[in-house]
Amino acid sequence: MITPLPPGSVIGILGGGQLGRMIALAAANLGYRCHILTSEENSPASQVSEKTIVADYRDGQALVAFASDVDVVTLEFENVPIETLAALATLVPVRPNARVLAICQDRQMEKRFAQELGLATVDWRGVDSVESLRAALIEIPLPAVLKTNRFGYDGKGQIKITTDNVDDLKPIWAALNTDQAILESFVPLDREISVIVARALDGTISCFEPAENQHENHILAVTNVPARLSDDQRQIAMAAACRLAESLDVIGLLSVEMFVLTDGRLVINEMAPRPHNSGHWTQDAAMTSQFEQLIRAVCGLPLGNPARQYAVTMHNLIGRQVKNWPILLAEPNTKLHLYGKMETRDGRKMGHFNRLWPDGLPNDR
Ligand code: AMP
Repeated sequence: MITPLPPGSVIGILGGGQLGRMIALAAANLGYRCHILTSEENSPASQVSEKTIVADYRDGQALVAFASDVDVVTLEFENVPIETLAALATLVPVRPNARVLAICQDRQMEKRFAQELGLATVDWRGVDSVESLRAALIEIPLPAVLKTNRFGYDGKGQIKITTDNVDDLKPIWAALNTDQAILESFVPLDREISVIVARALDGTISCFEPAENQHENHILAVTNVPARLSDDQRQIAMAAACRLAESLDVIGLLSVEMFVLTDGRLVINEMAPRPHNSGHWTQDAAMTSQFEQLIRAVCGLPLGNPARQYAVTMHNLIGRQVKNWPILLAEPNTKLHLYGKMETRDGRKMGHFNRLWPDGLPNDR
């Protein structure tokens, strides 16, 4: 028998970014309070939360203080050290757990995990030196992409290898500045999609429909839902994401990025055990948002209805694009979300908006 955390309980969130902010807002809607642990002063999440501890994630005293005040811990930021989650887990329930995070932080581990379930990934090899890179390139044909095994995001820590640069591998390896990398076959993409699954404390699963993502300069720019997929592809994508969440024993959310290849096959790219930028459409176009679903999962509540009510386009507001906020506010079917970041910087996610399409997505997208 699962006893849900009653309203008034405190949810601890590791990380203070915009995802944490939107988790905290969803928590407040259900009567919960949030405490944030972050290394950043005046973080977007802190602005809307009851309490913040600003400390390093490895600061043992800070972890004890944080844990003693909260009823459950979740995360908005994937690069939290595993030791932090493990230490917190001795004091308070941590959802999702350290094993899930360890797998999702490591590109080789997550690909192996998917393959062991019979799910397809691109061809890949682990690489730990320029010699092993040379050997891997005999097995993985060009073009290929070399990525740091851990801590990459928004295209950082990735170098494409083609006939133009393959003869000079030393500077490529040096530029990656790592001792553990993965070489992937660079596959022809038809489109990129993501599927977000929620899994409750009792093992119940609820899956949002796939979203179709467009990137600019390696940063997510636009998400359209519904995604252009056949019924079969939609089913396969959702079943794969559910399978991964179940096998990982996630409590909370699992966001799964997939490639749709030009031959129609789907392959798993990467996973994150937290809300995902490509799930922001759910805030205004689904019965339950990804953030509310996370709160429900970690607090032991039943999951909400993930059904979509509108076709929707989510646009990120990156850097100076945020200046358009007054124009966006004036659009009747647009919902604006700003993150409270004081300083506008190139490439920084400042907010997003959801444009709802009651008559379906326009054809010229
Ligand atoms: P990632 O950090 O793995 O999500 O990669 C960032 C982006 O680079 C992806 O969203 C794709 O557009 C592209 N990309 C990454 N890996 C591959 C690959 N193996 N083949 C083709 N495109 C890729």
